Amino acid sequence: RQALYAELRHVEPFTRCGTRIQVMMNAGLREDISSLSLVGADGIGLFRTEFQFLVSSTLPQREKQFRLYRDVLDAAGDKPVIFRTVDIGGDKAVPYLRSGEAEHDENPAMGWRALRLALEREGLLKVQARALIEAAAGRTLHVMFPMVSEPWEFDAAKAVFETQLKYLKAQKKTLPEAIKYGAMLEVPALAEVLDLLIPRLSFLSVGTNDLTQFLFAADRANPKLAERYDWLSPAILRFMRRIALATEGREVELGVCGEMGGRRLEALALLGLGFRRFSITPVSVGPIKELVRKVDLQQLSKVMMGLLSQPPESIRYELQEWATANDI
Ligand code: PEP
Ligand code: MG
Repeated sequence: RQALYAELRHVEPFTRCGTRIQVMMNAGLREDISSLSLVGADGIGLFRTEFQFLVSSTLPQREKQFRLYRDVLDAAGDKPVIFRTVDIGGDKAVPYLRSGEAEHDENPAMGWRALRLALEREGLLKVQARALIEAAAGRTLHVMFPMVSEPWEFDAAKAVFETQLKYLKAQKKTLPEAIKYGAMLEVPALAEVLDLLIPRLSFLSVGTNDLTQFLFAADRANPKLAERYDWLSPAILRFMRRIALATEGREVELGVCGEMGGRRLEALALLGLGFRRFSITPVSVGPIKELVRKVDLQQLSKVMMGLLSQPPESIRYELQEWATANDI
């Protein structure tokens, strides 16, 4: 298998029916980028910028952030990197940001975190925006905002970047060729207003780790709840289908960047529901590329549509049967 995955490194993942599927990887450290060519991913679909913040005892200064982002872009070469703005706060607590506020979140995952925190601590987002824009001079910058709950939060975050862009332009600095803005869909409420958000976006990435814990009201970090829901439950699959339908035929690029996309049967389900871009843990890239090559999307989609009223065990069983019949 390892030899096969190594061979697939240079092979673009097309389905049996000829559709190109984007298989990207998640990262968070400078060192992760070497995996890009090692596993043959299409790019970094999620760069978790908070890693640098989490390992630091003080707020990382702009210069330090700039160096990381520039190194990452240099190492990625012509492959795209989607930088997610900081997702700190809540359970990813950093001591230097607390200063008396929300010392203790009763529900950290649903607490003062990610974009909520960044929009209130605008200085923090401003510094990150400036570091990212400067690091991407002469290239395309992809920026993604985490935990967006409403379209106007996206507007507010984008405005911080646009202000920095204007400032740097006035300073006659070399600017990025383009900035593409995207959002993560992790908060279920956002799905209700997707029609309002989509025209504003270049891309939308579903964060299934947070999304599913919110959908099922089941803490993703609590081992007692690990069996509470299955990613192949109809509630999740129908929800994902709805998102795929909302973006169909629109300019926006739709992807998934949670752990769900890196698992065999779950990835099949997502392909069948209309997802064409995956950002997954590097070790899953080879296996998912191999799987993609054996899929006929029309057939799979028909199978999936027939399963959306079944209990998760049956969906799992049927998908496994289909996979076996297709030599997957
Ligand atoms: C997610 O929530 O699915 C996600 C990709 O973000 P994180 O795991 O970093 O919260
Ligand atoms: Mg998340």
